[in-house]
This record gives sequence, C-alpha cells and structure tokens, in this order.
Amino acid sequence: MCIFCQIVSGELPAYKVYEDDKTLAFLDIYPVNPGHTLVIPKTHYQDLEDIPETELANLIMVVKKVGKLLKDKLGAAGHNVTENNGAVAGQIVPHFHFHVIPRHAGDGHEPWIRGKYQPGEADEIIKKLIRQSAE
Ligand code: AMP
Ligand code: ZN
Repeated sequence: MCIFCQIVSGELPAYKVYEDDKTLAFLDIYPVNPGHTLVIPKTHYQDLEDIPETELANLIMVVKKVGKLLKDKLGAAGHNVTENNGAVAGQIVPHFHFHVIPRHAGDGHEPWIRGKYQPGEADEIIKKLIRQSAE
C-alpha cells in the first residue's frame, strides 16, 4: 500500500486539516512554508490521467477550502496550488495529490524560471497541440 493510502487507513499518522468521505487534507511533513497542505482522494489514483473527473472536481473544491483556511487562519497573503504529475515533473508519491502552499510577501520562494520561444517555435507547438489532437 502506498504511504498516502496508509495515512488514509490510519496506519501512518498525519496532521489532518480537513476530511470528508472522499477526501483528506493533511500537512506536508517537509513544508515549503508552514501550513503547506496536501489534498488527496481517499481512493488511490496515480495521476491526473488516472483520476475520474468527478473525483477531481470534488478535490479542487477542497483545495479551495484549504486555501481559504490558510488565508483566514494563518494569514497567508496568497497560495500556490501545484500538482507534480509524473516522476519527471517531481512526483515522488504515486497517489494523486494537490499541494496547497501558503505564501507570504518576501518569503523567498521564486517563481518558475521562464524561457522565450525562438522565431516560429510557438507556431510549431500550436500546430502540434491543436491540429494533431483534432485528427
Ligand atoms: P510529490 O513530490 O508531489 O509526490 O510530493 C509528495 C509530498 O509528500 C512531499 O512534499 C513530501 O514532503 C510529502 N510527504 C511524504 N511523506 C509524507 C507523510 N508521511 N506525511 C506528510 N507528507 C508526506
Ligand atoms: Zn495510495
């Protein structure tokens, strides 16, 4: 059983932030900022491709509740919602989860490093994304 399934079953402890019949939210043990919360479905799904849409809709509503808690109770000025989808994207625990990370002015967590499209590159990308997917 994966570690998040063990948290759901009660075999592993967690600091629970929110729970309902389908969803659990608990503190990440290695927080980016204090209050960093993980929101998971109680059922094991590996990733975004695996999770059914109705479960996903339920989960994002809990993400919204947690974001409000972080603001109202911890004074967060904002928050990041992230999902590392696949090992190459940094997913370590293979049980679908959203990270909800409280943010404060000057907390030092820089945004993504951005690049630039080379001439013609965005045209190629959009052709692949739109035309090929429509075929
Ligand atoms: P990811 O890299 O998106 O798969 O994130 C997995 C997250 O789970 C990491 O941020 C870990 O710090 C966190 N984590 C791993 N084990 C536990 C645990 N037992 N309780 C709470 N958080 C955990
Ligand atoms: Zn699991």
